[in-house]
Amino acid sequence: MSIFTKIIKGEIPCYKVAEDKDYFAFLDINPLAKGHTLVIPKRETDYIFDLHDNELAGLMIFAKKIAKAIEKVVTCKRIGIAVIGLEVPHAHIHLIPIDKVQDIDFSRPKLRFTESEFRETAEAIMKELGNQ
Ligand code: AMP
Repeated sequence: MSIFTKIIKGEIPCYKVAEDKDYFAFLDINPLAKGHTLVIPKRETDYIFDLHDNELAGLMIFAKKIAKAIEKVVTCKRIGIAVIGLEVPHAHIHLIPIDKVQDIDFSRPKLRFTESEFRETAEAIMKELGNQ
């Protein structure tokens, strides 16, 4: 079972942002920016391009809603998206607020936030989703 499946099941804590029947979103614990969010399919598949066509399309549409909400919470030019997948073998899309290309450079040092900062960010995004 992947660490992300454990998160979906609630066996490992996370800062949840959104969930529906098939998809789940939560804050990346080692973020490149405030609001850096991971969007995942609940069905555990390692490689994003092994997802079924409808699952991949649904993941992107779910990510779109989350990105629009993040934009309202974090000041940025765009929400950048990235797929790396070298660390966790459970397909996921990174949504990252960016102002310049360097903001989505995964080789940069990650940011540190307190638990309450993470919680506040997740709650703010969740609230925006509720307003959509
Ligand atoms: P990658 O598979 O290369 O896309 O990287 C996996 C991403 O998942 C990294 O950005 C990690 O910071 C993030 N990550 C790993 N474990 C957790 C966790 N328990 N909660 C939140 N994010 C995580």
